Amino acid sequence: MTIIYLKKNKEESLLRYHPWVFSGAVAHVAGSPQEGEVVAVRNSAGEPMGVGHYQEGSIVCRMLDFFCDTLPQDFYYTRLLAAYRMREQLQLITPDNNTYRLVHGEGDFLPGLIVDVYDDTAVLQAHSAGMHRDRHEIAEALCRVVPNLKNVYYKSESTLPFRRAFNDIKDGYLVGSESTCLATENGLTFAIDWLRGQKTGFFVDQRENRALLQHYAQGRQVLNMFCYTGGFSVYALRGGAKRVVSVDSSAKAIQLTEQNVKRNFPDTDRHTAVCRDAFDFLNDIRPEEYDLIVLDPPAFAKHRDAVRNALQGYKRLNAKAFEKIAPGGLLFTFSCSQAVSKEMFRLAVFSAAAISGRKVRILHQLQQPQDHPINIYHPEGEYLKGLVLYVE
Ligand code: SAH
Repeated sequence: MTIIYLKKNKEESLLRYHPWVFSGAVAHVAGSPQEGEVVAVRNSAGEPMGVGHYQEGSIVCRMLDFFCDTLPQDFYYTRLLAAYRMREQLQLITPDNNTYRLVHGEGDFLPGLIVDVYDDTAVLQAHSAGMHRDRHEIAEALCRVVPNLKNVYYKSESTLPFRRAFNDIKDGYLVGSESTCLATENGLTFAIDWLRGQKTGFFVDQRENRALLQHYAQGRQVLNMFCYTGGFSVYALRGGAKRVVSVDSSAKAIQLTEQNVKRNFPDTDRHTAVCRDAFDFLNDIRPEEYDLIVLDPPAFAKHRDAVRNALQGYKRLNAKAFEKIAPGGLLFTFSCSQAVSKEMFRLAVFSAAAISGRKVRILHQLQQPQDHPINIYHPEGEYLKGLVLYVE
């Protein structure tokens, strides 16, 4: 096995179980590892620091295990089983809920791997060369861990940044062939289209926040901006909203929203879906038309250097909502940009509130749910943040 030797005193972060080895920490590499190969890491004294996936670039190794020289037998099976058992204990796998994230990368001690489960289908996404190389072994282990799993779909064409080392990065089925399913989230039904949908087909990470919105929806005029599959809208309807308007600039998203509303509330006349740009739509609505607004835009900052512009974007968007929301209104506002911290986001929303001159209070500070856990040694895993604000 290839061995990566670290420079003197460069093992500090590994001693604290941080799962990334940066190229600057490497003294030399004994061997010529291939992209994604499992390699051993040792400190300058030759002591084993652990084992991980090798990858060219600034993060040269993503650690899979610490203070050993080889991976244990049945490594993926053991890790996946631990992830499954945790979700089971947290009561996320019930007749009422078969939609959950089974693996959240570093948060489940499997850096570079995402697995979302929708009923009897798992959608697997690799974010590292190593997870791409190991995809078949992972799919096989998934079938042993998740009872009654019929399909494993691999969806990594857009998440693997490198192409040169592989000519076999292709989305497709590793197991089974069904292309859609009806998944249940908190007793509501959603059609999931992993082939054409964004990310793995659904945003599992808003489940708890949607449930909170349902709690406040009674009698309200709800505006769900950036609705995608209409998750927040369906919960608002179940919560007794007087009227719900869903907005997205993608025609496909609007179609999915309409189907999901119909599936759960076949006879409702309380819902309208509009295909339009969010900023244009907010500009045109009458003041005080809505008293519950959701802002859940896509990540405005995909990289650190985009943070300044992203913050301007959040400020502009939230300022519009503060300008229009009715007195006594609730604003659910989110950022899923990993590069934008909780503090930065709050500051952007604070600036937006100040522009409007309204009285605003924070009722809830929201985050990603328990099936998107943050490895305490890897704070970079925190990405979703939200605020629920009361606007007078
Ligand atoms: N709230 C959703 C997830 C939102 S994902 C949920 O709970 O599932 C972000 C959505 O924003 C995508 O569907 C995308 O089509 C939409 N979008 C991106 N830019 C937009 C814009 N300028 N105006 C309106 N919608 C936009």
